[in-house]
Amino acid sequence: MSLMNTMIKTYKGNNLSQQKIKKLQHKRLKKIVDYARNNSTYFKDLYTGINGDFNLQDLPITNKIEMMKNFDSWITDTNINMNKIEKFTSDIENVGRMIDGKYLVFKTSGSTGNPAIVLYDKQNIDVASSVAAFRTFARKEDFNAFMKNGKRTAGVFANYGFYLACGMSRYLQLQMPRKKNKITIDVNASEEQIIKELNKFNPSMLSGYPSNLALLSNFEELTIKPDVVITGGELLTDEIRKKLTEKFNCYVQTHYSCTEVGEIACECSCGHLHINEDWVIVEPVDKNNNPVGYGVQSDKVLITNLSNYIQPFIRYELMDRIIVHNEKCKCGKKSCWLEIEGRTDDILEFENGVLIAPMSFYKILEEIKEIVRFQLIQKSYKKLELRIISDEKKVAFEKAKKRVTRIFKQ
Ligand SMILES: [Zn+2]
Repeated sequence: MSLMNTMIKTYKGNNLSQQKIKKLQHKRLKKIVDYARNNSTYFKDLYTGINGDFNLQDLPITNKIEMMKNFDSWITDTNINMNKIEKFTSDIENVGRMIDGKYLVFKTSGSTGNPAIVLYDKQNIDVASSVAAFRTFARKEDFNAFMKNGKRTAGVFANYGFYLACGMSRYLQLQMPRKKNKITIDVNASEEQIIKELNKFNPSMLSGYPSNLALLSNFEELTIKPDVVITGGELLTDEIRKKLTEKFNCYVQTHYSCTEVGEIACECSCGHLHINEDWVIVEPVDKNNNPVGYGVQSDKVLITNLSNYIQPFIRYELMDRIIVHNEKCKCGKKSCWLEIEGRTDDILEFENGVLIAPMSFYKILEEIKEIVRFQLIQKSYKKLELRIISDEKKVAFEKAKKRVTRIFKQ
């Protein structure tokens, strides 16, 4: 299926009635379940005893630990396996390139445990592009200003790994190498450097982690006038939203995404996160996986991605706590919307007054493959304690120490 085809489908899926959406979801679910059980030995076994006219709730729940443990049998292309992926991802030049010319490779951010490897097939990439094109902007006037100002986009993210934001951005740059309307600036560069690059590029859309953009906004030297600021990766608190709005004098919004699914929900002009129900099924559940109703806070969420056939995510557990609403939204969209309780990490503050967003440390420490889990605790204005779980503690700690020291020097 071509990009144009997916664009049209996504456009048509924009504002369907709840009844039509449910029908479309079920049709797409059946198709992906059939494909998974016919092409993945893991799903063939998992769905033994599930007959043709199943409901979503009949399907067993899946999770990251099982997925990573059974990676090679989980994915639906026998030409790809973990060994091959490890080789591919050991070369940083491959960020944004396709393995076997077919699939993009991403790593999840591992702040809640081990990172996962996620492959995107062409259809899933096209869905991501289509959703970005039609649903990213909460307000039409911001979209219009963005188009008028040459779609100049600057993202301040981790700019060196196989992360979704970085990989997708590089993929698009490689597709259109002559277009110079997109830059990614490494979140771990010095503030001076980040500000210099942002001022020089003068983006129409600025994106980044909320805590980090909040830190940058303290600098008078940062003089850009974006048309819109779109944050991601962490919870956008009301406080940070207000701060960024005052600094940049434009609309500040967020979205809800994860690597396994891509865009789960996009913000509307009322500030509500509307679920992309045509491509994603969201089930809020309690800790025993029983469904919770509309308006009730969940303990976690089960996610089904209806567009990725290479690596099926069907009733896949995410540890986010959300509330799904079915009340009509004033914006006119018919889809359900959600509220999310996101990561709310503290900003680290040091003796000399320097502030550092915790995301900088996540990204650095996640890159060290000897570290299984980590915890970073600020003991005082000049002391951080790093705790790690690792089979090679000494090697892991030395690497971590070296990289964290490098950030401090910057
Ligand atoms: Zn709305």
